[in-house]
Amino acid sequence: MATARDYSQLSEPKNKTPVHNETKGLDAHLASIWHHLHDAVLICDASLNVTHTNPAFELLTGYTREELLGHRIDFWHKGLMNERFYQDISKALSQGSQWQGEIWLRRKDRSPVPALLTVCMESRLKTPLTYVAIFKDLTLQKEAEMRLQDRIHYDSLTELPNRILFSQYLARLCECQSDFALMVLDLRGMKAININHHHDTGDEIIRVVSKRLRNRMGPDDLLARIGGDEFALLIPGMHNHWMAEQYAKNMMGCFEWPFQLSHQQMYMSAAMGVAMWPCNSNSPDVLFSDAEHALFEAKRQHIPYLFFTKELRENQQNRNQLQQDLVTALKENQISLVYQPIWNTALQQVTKLEALIRWQHPEKGNISPLDFIPIAEECGLIQLLGQWGLLQACTDLNKLKKLGFDSLQMSVNRSTPEFQTIDLDAKEWLMTIQDMGLSPRDIVFEITESLLMANQTENRQRMQALRDAGCQIAIDDFGTGYSSLSYLRTFPIDVVKIDKAFICHIPDETQECLLLDGIINMVRNLEMQLIIEGVETSAQLDYLQSRGCHAIQGYLFSRPLSFDALVPYLQKSQ
Ligand code: C2E
Ligand code: CA
Ligand code: CA
Repeated sequence: MATARDYSQLSEPKNKTPVHNETKGLDAHLASIWHHLHDAVLICDASLNVTHTNPAFELLTGYTREELLGHRIDFWHKGLMNERFYQDISKALSQGSQWQGEIWLRRKDRSPVPALLTVCMESRLKTPLTYVAIFKDLTLQKEAEMRLQDRIHYDSLTELPNRILFSQYLARLCECQSDFALMVLDLRGMKAININHHHDTGDEIIRVVSKRLRNRMGPDDLLARIGGDEFALLIPGMHNHWMAEQYAKNMMGCFEWPFQLSHQQMYMSAAMGVAMWPCNSNSPDVLFSDAEHALFEAKRQHIPYLFFTKELRENQQNRNQLQQDLVTALKENQISLVYQPIWNTALQQVTKLEALIRWQHPEKGNISPLDFIPIAEECGLIQLLGQWGLLQACTDLNKLKKLGFDSLQMSVNRSTPEFQTIDLDAKEWLMTIQDMGLSPRDIVFEITESLLMANQTENRQRMQALRDAGCQIAIDDFGTGYSSLSYLRTFPIDVVKIDKAFICHIPDETQECLLLDGIINMVRNLEMQLIIEGVETSAQLDYLQSRGCHAIQGYLFSRPLSFDALVPYLQKSQ
């Protein structure tokens, strides 16, 4: 191996250090290598004074040979490496002939540069000790590593930290044991946007949302995109519920004005779950799951944000238990139907029956459909429940027809998710009706306004198919949901059922009467039939009669009745 001495003539210092003039036999090849070597080489003597540098070294550091030669090695990168560093190297070298490690150099312009340093020691008899340092520039390698790190840790669409980096940050924050809030935010309706619009629109919304959120956050707060339409926020210094609530409200304010996209304006909404640290579990994973629980519940309740509480988890566990019980209930005949008569007061007879579902739980007693229908919808049992209900209602109507009540219609409730999962030609339901020996004309399907808002084209097709076959479509609980007139007008609807909320204060409250009058007129103008629900008093009935409303359902006439109680009721009222 060539020694430093061989190259001395190439980079000999001008006056300072004595140079061994043993270069006569220098090989021209070695001189060429010295000049063209990519790696930077620096040689110094036992006192760490620079004796030689090659051109690559000058290129790497920005210093000229003249500026370095004769100076102590640390003159040009002071501050980056301390004396200890040299001691460590010298100690390592005393045990072997070479030391290697990554270091940061400082260029003449003070910019740092990463390098792989290899130091060799030359000490032969009769020759003074010499150190040879070879620097391999690691800038490109470090940049590539950083790019890879970015790809692993950052979301390319929003440039926000992703779930991996977020989890690391969350774990670190938990270790610090200081107060902070974790918020998980989910955009509503992104699935529909991705289906109904080009994917670019969805991407654009995500980007704009991330900017809006970021603009409202402090410099120490972290915003991460942890899923397709899910963001997580970590906010240090949130000492109490009140502070976090103000913060959450401010964040939800991002959705108060429309999103200006390149081709259109769009309103978006979101839901947020909040969990506070410190928490009982003392675990980042549990804290995250708490926030997700709160988010799930906020979405379920259609509210903008919700804080995690112990009760929330208990409620969720209860719901999970009810889901399991519901499966058993279906198998073990705990589910039944009752029928509420709908009167036509002009004809003075019952013209329709509404089938209403009941669950007699072996331990909990009667559970209201208002409690278990949403659970069945959540866990996907609603289809099974709905199919059972339709079959049972048709069976009972068939029996009634055989008993002579042949003009009765049966009204069955259909949940939105249930309606959305049948074929576009509604074959399943029409077949059930026919299989039970009934005509589609005997059946009214009650749907809610929410159905008119979602998947409009397909739902319209399903409604049309049912109607074409002869079934009637009723809008249930009118006035409690979106109540959009334009939707009513454009959908194939036969009957509008006015919710009991519009009846309970009539005839005493004038404003309520005016509102009800308005709705009645509107439905008449649309040439649809009207049913008034929840009529409990004769004063209400008198008012409705005076307005020409004759299709009446309510406790005033009858509560929902079991099939066995229904038959004598109908016989009496015919
Ligand atoms: P809904 O379809 O609006 O049913 C009318 C509800 O009002 C029934 O409650 C009925 O018992 C009650 N009701 C009737 N007359 C009066 C009255 O004069 N005053 C008062 N205060 N209430 C009256 P129910 O049976 O508890 O059903 C609640 C809701 O559960 C139903 O509201 C419907 O949305 C849903 N539901 C019931 N059965 C089914 C079903 O088989 N399938 C689906 N998907 N939903 C159902
Ligand atoms: Ca109904
Ligand atoms: Ca109703």
